[in-house]
Amino acid sequence: TKFTDLNLNPKVLKAIEEAGYDSPTPIQAGAIPPALTGRDVLGIAQTGTGKTASFTLPMITMLARGRARARMPRSLVLCPTRELAAQVAENFDTYAKYTKLTKALLIGGVSFKEQDKLIDKGVDVLIATPGRLLDHHERGKLILTDVKVMVIDEADRMLDMGFIPDIERIFGLTPFTRQTLFFSATMAPEIERITNTFLSNPERIEM
Ligand code: AMP
Repeated sequence: TKFTDLNLNPKVLKAIEEAGYDSPTPIQAGAIPPALTGRDVLGIAQTGTGKTASFTLPMITMLARGRARARMPRSLVLCPTRELAAQVAENFDTYAKYTKLTKALLIGGVSFKEQDKLIDKGVDVLIATPGRLLDHHERGKLILTDVKVMVIDEADRMLDMGFIPDIERIFGLTPFTRQTLFFSATMAPEIERITNTFLSNPERIEM
């Protein structure tokens, strides 16, 4: 498979070419086509496999049409740690650089003020840790009813860190009609349960 066979937005293709990527990794070749048709994806993959691009590239492609509205992000990426969220945000900036898409990084340990400003202006993509996202929601600052695509990254680490109840709450705040792209390095029984509850007929890709 080549990137040019994957129906990605030309602006995304330009950015990955510039990043020096030759061809998609197996998780990318497996996850991008079903994601682009709107299907839920369950990706079982470790870090280092290229999993970040496997959800970011289709997400950017799908969001490229349409516009951000104040306080109503169109997509949501949940990460277990601040560091991982910051990495995803950096990747997003690289791959979205030729689009007009906007993002906000919502992580703890920094003031709400700057994050509030971005949310109020409207962003296409929110990249967040679960606790900080719920803080914003509880402050009445954030409306999640317009989320079209939701990504869960490193679900097994979310489980280790006790974030599963937060994740379940966040799922409940988003519409049933959302698309879910769910990634985990392992499939513990609790992870299996969550995917059975919140994913709809997912394409399962195991590395
Ligand atoms: P990840 O597993 O998402 O953390 O990605 C691991 C590393 O591989 C990152 O530094 C990416 O920039 C890089 N990468 C992702 N996809 C590709 C690709 N198709 N070709 C070359 N490098 C890639």
